[in-house]
Amino acid sequence: MPTPHLPPTVAAHVPTGLLIGGSWQRASTGRTFAVEDPATTEVLFDVEDAGPADGLAALTAAADVADEWAAVAPRARAELLRSVFDALTARSEDVAALVTAEGGKPLAEARAEVAYAAEYLRWYSEQAVRLPGLARTAPAGTHHQLVLSRPVGPALLITPWNFPIAMITRKVAPALAAGCPVVIKPAQLTPLTTAYFAEIVRAELEAHGLPTGVINVVPTSSSSTLTAPVIADPRLRKLSFTGSTEVGRVLLRSSAENILRTSMELGGNAPFLVFEDADIPAAVEGALAAKMRNAGQTCVAANRFLVHESVADEFGNALAARFRGLVVGHGADAGTTVGPLIEAAAVDNVERVVADAVDRGARVLVGGERPQRAGHFFAPTVLADVAPDALAIREETFGPVAPLTTFGDEREALELANASEFGLVAYAYTRDVGRVMRLAEQVETGMLGINRGLVSDASAPFGGVKWSGLGREGGEAGIEEYLEQRYIAL
Ligand code: NAD
Repeated sequence: MPTPHLPPTVAAHVPTGLLIGGSWQRASTGRTFAVEDPATTEVLFDVEDAGPADGLAALTAAADVADEWAAVAPRARAELLRSVFDALTARSEDVAALVTAEGGKPLAEARAEVAYAAEYLRWYSEQAVRLPGLARTAPAGTHHQLVLSRPVGPALLITPWNFPIAMITRKVAPALAAGCPVVIKPAQLTPLTTAYFAEIVRAELEAHGLPTGVINVVPTSSSSTLTAPVIADPRLRKLSFTGSTEVGRVLLRSSAENILRTSMELGGNAPFLVFEDADIPAAVEGALAAKMRNAGQTCVAANRFLVHESVADEFGNALAARFRGLVVGHGADAGTTVGPLIEAAAVDNVERVVADAVDRGARVLVGGERPQRAGHFFAPTVLADVAPDALAIREETFGPVAPLTTFGDEREALELANASEFGLVAYAYTRDVGRVMRLAEQVETGMLGINRGLVSDASAPFGGVKWSGLGREGGEAGIEEYLEQRYIAL
């Protein structure tokens, strides 16, 4: 379907079917669902709407090649991933256009996402030949112990809409490197990029003479109906989920029946701490990066700005000035720095959060309303004097709203930072090395950015504590999520 914001050369190569056992197919339901451009609400494509039978067919395809894939030499798996890295990188402009079209983020951010996504392929191509193992003599001297890494088996990957390529490669790359075939259930709102990427992988598998059934994709408009029988099937051995804590909890419950290995990358409520000794202009730039990527719709988005009372006005005014200069628009238009929110309900939610903060005494320094235009937009907003019990502080807002609140000393800052059920990431701006070490030990999050608004890196362990999840993606740890240890006594 032609759209002015998606180049025809890209549109012509987007698969809209299900990828099962190496071929693109129609859904057994006979239905399709529409994928929209959130900046215009126009329909981009109608996609085949997979049902439970398709989910199980995809699992069968994965299970059928599991032994063969596990037996492929690590070096061959590494070379496959490296080829996929090269192919994705060569087509990064097309993939970025697709990410912007269905997800809304500005093109510059979409390009950065593709580059970041590709790094997982390169990193795990390098890790595939370094799977952990051990050989030693038992302490009693009676025998030897051998510990091998074995792939856990077929994996179901369920991903969110906000990073339609990076959330896929962050799972697919370590899974394939470890020797696990996969079934991907992409987000209903953004299945196009996944399909485009899966075709790249399928073509590379074919070119390398490897089994194409190791990657299967089942887009659907009824997620739980499709995933329930797959999760209950004993052939499935792993569930890797990225999304909200609410859905993660539901999936953990259903995984218990089948004793599945699970990885859960869930919601966040990141504190952004600005201490009295911070480099304020640097903190403002870091705040912009941590808050405004994808219009605030990231799990690592700074959700609460905790600022020392002596620098609160200076920081708040400088941040508001930067927000005033942001350009809201279609992500594909030159000059746009903030795209739309993903859907109408997201705009409603942001409006509710802002109204609640204002009701509790917050001052709007900039923004605070929907711009007058079509699409799901909300103006970049800075709120000062936000009450600690406001929704903007307590909930993950997932929008372009920066609520500021103050603290008097380091102890209070830490208490406020840790006063959340979530624990994905925290950010802090300070020049005091002793304080940095105290924060490193006492902040209750899986990740901490010091004088940086960005922490993600394919080579580092990404993940949270408390309600933000279980397990890690990226780094050495990421591949272990797809491996089990086999111990041999001899
Ligand atoms: P979501 O939980 O609504 O959906 C995530 C995925 O689960 C989608 O594919 C969806 O279709 C599917 N899903 C929904 N209900 C399901 C069910 N009952 N059974 C099976 N599948 C189901 O989340 P979202 O709105 O797509 O993404 C936003 C959330 O994801 C935020 O909370 C954000 O913090 C989180 N997130 C976390 C990370 C991380 O790495 N920790 C990264 C990105 C996003």
